[in-house]
Amino acid sequence: MIVASPKSITELKNLIAGHKKVLFAGCGTCVTVCLAGGEREVGIASYAIRMARRLEGESLELTQATIERQCENEFIKDLAEAAVKVDAIVSFGCGVGVQAIAERFPDKPVYAGLNTQFMGTLEEQAVWTEKCLGCGDCMLAQFGGVCPVTRCAKRLLNGPCGGSSETHCEVDPDRPCAWQLIYARLKNIDQLDRLDAIVPPKDWSASWHAGARKVVRKEHRVG
Ligand code: SF4
Ligand code: SF4
Repeated sequence: MIVASPKSITELKNLIAGHKKVLFAGCGTCVTVCLAGGEREVGIASYAIRMARRLEGESLELTQATIERQCENEFIKDLAEAAVKVDAIVSFGCGVGVQAIAERFPDKPVYAGLNTQFMGTLEEQAVWTEKCLGCGDCMLAQFGGVCPVTRCAKRLLNGPCGGSSETHCEVDPDRPCAWQLIYARLKNIDQLDRLDAIVPPKDWSASWHAGARKVVRKEHRVG
């Protein structure tokens, strides 16, 4: 899932400064699961912003709406009725959702209510970790399903740097050494021989470094 974190109430308040009618739009998918931008979080943020505005003696008409997914036009249309009545929208979706809403409502200011962080998983209660950079050329088969591109601080593809300490990364001791995980996993699945292969330098042409990417699947296009 895409993992995001809430912006502070002060930042949200500053984002909508000067606007009198605002829509707070939540997203019911990834950011709901990571407890950042679902119906509950939008409700809490709305309450805090209303209070803050009231304490400052400023009026604010704040509407809340959470749709299933902000990254798909099919669902964004459910915001149309609320959007026409406001002078700004704060999206509590990930950065994709914010931009999709801005494209759908080109005449409205659309602000990001969250800080989008990474693609990852829930590790333990309220702890998420990054698992994939979306490099465009997945090498997981080679590494037993543990991604060194994302999880090794040095992005090493041919074994560990030698600096790990008690299975933890030398760059960040809070993090397990990715190569320790790769070794353990390959051992478990009886594929340690994969470590004998020299991995050539990664071809980064499929990654985002050359700018935003596009996927076109001709077989699914009509016309
Ligand atoms: S190799 Fe690339 S696509 Fe595969 S998990 Fe790692 S970053 Fe993601
Ligand atoms: S300690 Fe492990 S995870 Fe950290 S940089 Fe070295 S090889 Fe990569």
